[in-house]
Amino acid sequence: MDCNLSRALIALGRRELTADDALVLDRHLAGCPACALAAQKLNALDSALNRAMNAVPIPPRLHDDLLKSAFARRGADLRRKIYQYAALAAAVLIAVGLSYGGYWRTRPVLNTNALAERVEAEQENHERVVRDWLAGQALPTHLPYEFDFRLCLFHGKGELHGRDVPVIVFASGRDTARVYLVRRNQFKTDDARFARSSLGSVEVLASADPTVLFVVTYTTERIDPFLLRRTVGQPG
Ligand SMILES: [Zn+2]
Repeated sequence: MDCNLSRALIALGRRELTADDALVLDRHLAGCPACALAAQKLNALDSALNRAMNAVPIPPRLHDDLLKSAFARRGADLRRKIYQYAALAAAVLIAVGLSYGGYWRTRPVLNTNALAERVEAEQENHERVVRDWLAGQALPTHLPYEFDFRLCLFHGKGELHGRDVPVIVFASGRDTARVYLVRRNQFKTDDARFARSSLGSVEVLASADPTVLFVVTYTTERIDPFLLRRTVGQPG
């Protein structure tokens, strides 16, 4: 493993790694003081943050803001890594292609129609992946709004008041919307209801499963920027 990959795995966080990845990472850390220090720093930061969050009763809005900025940073980090690897992979492909003469004789025609179809398929695919992921956890797969999955940035576990909660994150420009799926046995939800601050809105919505609530937060005034746009006049 090289240091770039090692840093990417460290940034991902240990809980996200497979046992194999964790083992390879540990081997690298044992022989690489620079990466070991980076991992140590991140761990210290994570546990300090966790301690701080658990020790003090934080006003809900502040807690939410902390989560929001932590999420945004992590998302930006991850995206940068992914772009770096995509660029690296492309460079390797080009190098391999250049050195392999046969490539030029058999090179495919660039088909923009096929590419457009693929983009569409990926959008549908993303929605299906999220639905499958929810179904796999016996969670309701029908979200309370018709989100535009081209804006979907992340789905996985997110932290909400110190608990791991499934969350789907959408981003539109600098704004984000998050859909948490909260089990009633995880939180006292009786008092949960719509809330709004200058920073955004929180909606609590019922799902098809009476034991699961949707908690939808968004940094915009209305949820619309994250939803599929319909042409005016089109029946909806
Ligand atoms: Zn290293």
